Amino acid sequence: MGKLTAAYIPTGRGKKNLVLDGFSFTESPAGYWVCSRRKNVNCRASARTNKRGEVIRYDNTHNHEKPKFYKAFFLPSRAGKMVLIFRNNKFWVNNQYRDKLNWACRDKDSKGCLCRVQTTMDGRFVRVKGHHTHKPNFTPDNFNASGLIKSKGKECNDSLISKIRQDENTVE
Ligand SMILES: [Zn+2]
Ligand SMILES: [Zn+2]
Repeated sequence: MGKLTAAYIPTGRGKKNLVLDGFSFTESPAGYWVCSRRKNVNCRASARTNKRGEVIRYDNTHNHEKPKFYKAFFLPSRAGKMVLIFRNNKFWVNNQYRDKLNWACRDKDSKGCLCRVQTTMDGRFVRVKGHHTHKPNFTPDNFNASGLIKSKGKECNDSLISKIRQDENTVE
């Protein structure tokens, strides 16, 4: 499982999607994940997670291509917020507008970068606006994706899940 990049994306109302290996999964019931495209294309791929949010099983029999957002991926950050990695740059959630998330470049304040990315709530890439004013701030060279699920990931996922739980408590 170490080679998979797994992350959770809040999808609103306290729910979340699992993004695994570039594919999106919907939870039903708790700990059981089915491909988010199951309803559309009858994809049978599924995954299971334990109570700590770690992936313990992955059946990757997708009958379709990876969704468009595979070039962007999401990481839980230390503060329990989501980070978007897109084309070797790191983005933080800037705001939510209707059913879209707007992401601002990490270097927005430090370097005045105005590059923005927009995704849907379930992480599908919508558009990118503006250009970076700096060199890529997040390259594969300084990032080890496999670490996510192994040692560090546990910590990160835990903090994200507790954040999501907090959100659940504050929603409605
Ligand atoms: Zn699928
Ligand atoms: Zn930038």
